[in-house]
Amino acid sequence: MGWLGDRPGGSLTVPLELTYLGCEGVLVRGRAGSVLIDGLFSNEAAPFGIPDAGVLETLRRARPPFDSVDVILATHHHADHFDAGAVATYLGANPRTRFVSTSQAVAELRAATGDAFAGRIHALAATEGVVDGVDVGDIRVDGFGLSHGKVHYAGVEHLGLLVTLDGRRVLHLGDGIIAEKSLRSAGVIDAAIDVGVVPFWFLTHPFGRRLAERGFRPRVSFAVHIRVTEREQVVREVEQWPNAVAFTEPLSRFDVADDGTVTRKE
Ligand SMILES: [Zn+2]
Repeated sequence: MGWLGDRPGGSLTVPLELTYLGCEGVLVRGRAGSVLIDGLFSNEAAPFGIPDAGVLETLRRARPPFDSVDVILATHHHADHFDAGAVATYLGANPRTRFVSTSQAVAELRAATGDAFAGRIHALAATEGVVDGVDVGDIRVDGFGLSHGKVHYAGVEHLGLLVTLDGRRVLHLGDGIIAEKSLRSAGVIDAAIDVGVVPFWFLTHPFGRRLAERGFRPRVSFAVHIRVTEREQVVREVEQWPNAVAFTEPLSRFDVADDGTVTRKE
């Protein structure tokens, strides 16, 4: 990881900063750059708690403090995770930013923008359990197919996303089901995952507990996709886990230190 070397003792690294943007949206900032995951959504994300319209406009128009995103990622094309118009607005406002997602999301973006962002948008294959990846500057983005559901959403291409920056690994599981086989095949079980951004069912469903027993243990997990009306119950269940935080307040920010210590900012 370049000038970070072998991370001796960890004291030389700076924390990763996570800003929650509502629903499953997270902005991850490190020294290597900034990554926005599932943060440019439509109003369909509103039941899961989103920032007010003014903040969303600031985000979409790439205005400070949201002006320096290196890569926008979307786990899949559902509107509470991805909105082609919002992504197009951001890409139009920041010529350095790239977009990486499934071929379905990329096709929607291309349909909306033509060749305007050719060379800046990239599709990852969403074959279950098979890793496909791309480098964006000093940020590594790997994705693997993780089912969104075997019945209702069987036709939806869906990615688990593993982002490596500053020598640390952030895993975002989108709306994935608890598919142990795919996760194992992708190499994220028994792996050193620094930060897991996981839909809350990974922490509340018995299969999630079983998965943890079998080696799926991000150093710290942030639970997302919590419906406002279910918040109290879900937060209570999430808090039973060591090193798990429920993301409920849009724009709340957390530092994750090299040793996994989480500090809420302000
Ligand atoms: Zn979905």
